[in-house]
Amino acid sequence: MGLLSEGSPLSWEETKRRSEYVRKHGIIQFINLYHKLRDRQGDILKWGDEVEYMIVKFDDGNKTARLSLRAAEILEVFHNEHDSLPEKDEARCLWHPEYAAYMLEATPGHPYGGLLAHFNVVEANMRYRREQAAKLMHPGERLMTLTSFPRIGCPAFTEPVHPTKPTSGATRSLFFPDEAIFPGHPRFKTLTRNIRQRRGEKVAINLPIFKDVKTPSPFVEDYLLYGDDGEARRAALPDHVYLDAMGFGMGCCCLQLTFQACNINEARTLYDQLAPLCPILLALTAASPFHRGLITDVDCRWNVISGAVDCRTRQERGLLPLGPNERRIPKSRYDSISSYISPQGEKYNDVPLVLDEDAYKQLSEAGIDPLLARHIAHLFIRDTVSLFEERLNQDDSKDSDHFENIQSTNWQTMRFKPPPPNSSIGWRVEFRPCEVQITDFENAAVVCFVVLLTRVILSYQLDLIIPISKVDDNMQKAQKRNAIQSEKFWFRKDITTSISPPEATCHCPVFPVDASSKLPSNCDVYAQMTINEIINGKEGEFPGLIPLLTSYLSGMDVDADTHCTIQQYLKLIQRRASGELQTTAQWLRKYVTTHPDYRKDSVISEKINYDLLKTIDSIQNGIIPCPDLLGAPLISKTQDSVPQTISKAECSAE
Ligand code: GLU
Ligand code: MG
Repeated sequence: MGLLSEGSPLSWEETKRRSEYVRKHGIIQFINLYHKLRDRQGDILKWGDEVEYMIVKFDDGNKTARLSLRAAEILEVFHNEHDSLPEKDEARCLWHPEYAAYMLEATPGHPYGGLLAHFNVVEANMRYRREQAAKLMHPGERLMTLTSFPRIGCPAFTEPVHPTKPTSGATRSLFFPDEAIFPGHPRFKTLTRNIRQRRGEKVAINLPIFKDVKTPSPFVEDYLLYGDDGEARRAALPDHVYLDAMGFGMGCCCLQLTFQACNINEARTLYDQLAPLCPILLALTAASPFHRGLITDVDCRWNVISGAVDCRTRQERGLLPLGPNERRIPKSRYDSISSYISPQGEKYNDVPLVLDEDAYKQLSEAGIDPLLARHIAHLFIRDTVSLFEERLNQDDSKDSDHFENIQSTNWQTMRFKPPPPNSSIGWRVEFRPCEVQITDFENAAVVCFVVLLTRVILSYQLDLIIPISKVDDNMQKAQKRNAIQSEKFWFRKDITTSISPPEATCHCPVFPVDASSKLPSNCDVYAQMTINEIINGKEGEFPGLIPLLTSYLSGMDVDADTHCTIQQYLKLIQRRASGELQTTAQWLRKYVTTHPDYRKDSVISEKINYDLLKTIDSIQNGIIPCPDLLGAPLISKTQDSVPQTISKAECSAE
């Protein structure tokens, strides 16, 4: 989530009073960075993954699975171990805090580089992280990669159990106690309090409930039982699962990737070219249909987090008339990007972009081009929501804390990252939409797929850009139940440019054209396609991303091991896209709705939750196969566990 400055957090009133100050200095810091680093060249491709985890505590006697609030304790051990490493030894992975007291985040110790052979170590590194964590787990505890915890916000979902305090503290949730927020750093509670106070009320997320045959209709809950003073009754919609805390969103886990580009222009290109892929990868990795012990009608976490950190006032959200110096803001600070920043993207910027006019002026006067100045001035419409006394006064020629303060609390699908001051790191972009998968194999497959896409986009100079409004549409479609099969997504029909090789060329006059397009000159550029068509291609119409990767790889010198690794990862993606294998969300739904205890009422009981998480844990450990999710198990009868991955012999036999 990005961790900044430790120290004494200011109250919301104090923070608000300094919002203009932070904005002004944040912009100066960006300008200084830009001038120092815009001509930086020759950085090499480096990339890394970030995986977020939950610590789950199983009680096999009582058949419960809860979230263990021991992340701070465990992190301290990791950090002490790391600090005591002899200097010559490099850590294989690094552990970081995350929003919740039950979450951990890990990255490889060092970024991976441009060699395809690095794909061979991704999964092993992920496995190593689990092994390392396993040593610190108490009996019954397991490190798990769940995007959402099915019973988050149910009574006693944490270990230890904490009562909620709806009238005091940072969250004031009816369901999510402050003790479930990471206690080891004041940032997380401060963000929670300030977001609520800036908004003027608690956050409110309403997810449509999955209506099963015995689900009450309309589905309405009595929040008085939880201590509601009327706010929940007003905010909750009938037939929806109502959530009222930042923790429901930021307490979800994801899989992110960061790429270092060779220079600023390549970073701007990558940012734009990857943006249209965000909803596609979100649908492909969908893994979070359950919240507060209920089955919802959505498959992804995105709108949950978006609502969970939505600090906009009622005026900004368009619910009340604007007062002086107020403006409407169409999106939450956690949302899909609102503008492209490369020359190819410029003409597809078709959604109105709210700018901080002073910031824009400051940036323009400093010689920053309009596309980039608009991007930064858009990020800077947000107020700081966490400010530490010790970090107020900074040297704008050396520090970048005020810039990072606003940048790191704009949680968008993509993030464009200037090099940190005085570091060897270059211009980077972060790819942020993916939901985390159950097994390291799947997570490594997603990582490998996205990294290869960046290689092929840059090598073939592909152009995937479609109007931003269409990417926004796709983000909403991607989250619907079963979107991977039932939705069609806007996608560019001809993604080749003059230098792309012939394999990449498509002949695609057949797709229907969007009649409502506001961009008449582009209206035959994009069309609606299924995820299967986008990923696997459609004869004579669209080449498909995987066939493009295959063609790219065929021109490369790849050793047998790496070839095998890549093939099995791409195969998983291919089969998920075609519907031959289930997405995590589909599999989770099926597990719960076919569980013998399930009463067809959309409720996930403690026992169902326990059985589900036990099963997931066994799948991740290779103890039981899961053909619906991973394909037919490749069992060698002599092994005592099922390998998640195909053996070398099997790979070359294909
Ligand atoms: N956990 C958040 C998510 O699922 C991401 C937090 C971060 O930016 O690291 O998207
Ligand atoms: Mg994170």
